[in-house]
Amino acid sequence: MSELAGRADFAAPAGVQCFVTTRHDGCSEHNFSAFNLALHVGDDATTVNRNRSLLLASLQRQCQQPLLQLQWMQQVHGISVWRATDSVVEPPPEADALYTREPNIVLGVLTADCLPVLFCSEDGSEIAVAHAGWRGLCNGVLEATLKNFSAAPAQVRCWLGPAIGPCHFEVGNEVRDAFLAKAAIGDQAATRSAFQTDNNAGKWLADLYALARLRLRSAGVQQISGQVQCTVCHADRYYSYRKQAVTGRFATLIVRSI
Ligand SMILES: [Zn+2]
Repeated sequence: MSELAGRADFAAPAGVQCFVTTRHDGCSEHNFSAFNLALHVGDDATTVNRNRSLLLASLQRQCQQPLLQLQWMQQVHGISVWRATDSVVEPPPEADALYTREPNIVLGVLTADCLPVLFCSEDGSEIAVAHAGWRGLCNGVLEATLKNFSAAPAQVRCWLGPAIGPCHFEVGNEVRDAFLAKAAIGDQAATRSAFQTDNNAGKWLADLYALARLRLRSAGVQQISGQVQCTVCHADRYYSYRKQAVTGRFATLIVRSI
């Protein structure tokens, strides 16, 4: 049987399971077709809640854990991290990262071009997700997430999910300047090379993946996986805000199902 939530190719330790959804197979229509999981984008709330129920059932089946619950967040392009404890908080907290040590709480991030990042300690006891658009990434959402771990950064594995690739992420000087202003002296050259010149004057093609890897490595993370899967190039599979301003959101998820 094909499942609504596919497995992410993150080499997480035993007992930690990771998933990425696509826009296929859900109940949403028009621009939101078909598996939109976000309530804030103009889609019908009843339909979105139905999609969320289908997602939860799929995760429960795949993890063989009927008690799984889903924790979302109200993402604001900030750097706040919400620590999920024994039960899910509704309405979702305002945050751009979720961390937990609790089993059976699925942490979910919703995106359509921004970079979803999964975190897991090597022993599998700590997990997190982060929402890294350029602002959050630049302001330190990944570093803020790492600070919640008891494990040292060298013992944390990270995975980068589907996001707008360097083939499509055109930005202005202000974005490049913001990253260069935050980059350590030793990271200046690598930060510059994450922005390639575009044919448009004053515009750059930014590599969010390279920028995220740079920030994670600077913070001490050595195990980083996840290749570019551009949401604009693959707008038939994922939602892309650049491709279509009114659109849905897909989810990247992690859970300790022990
Ligand atoms: Zn692309």
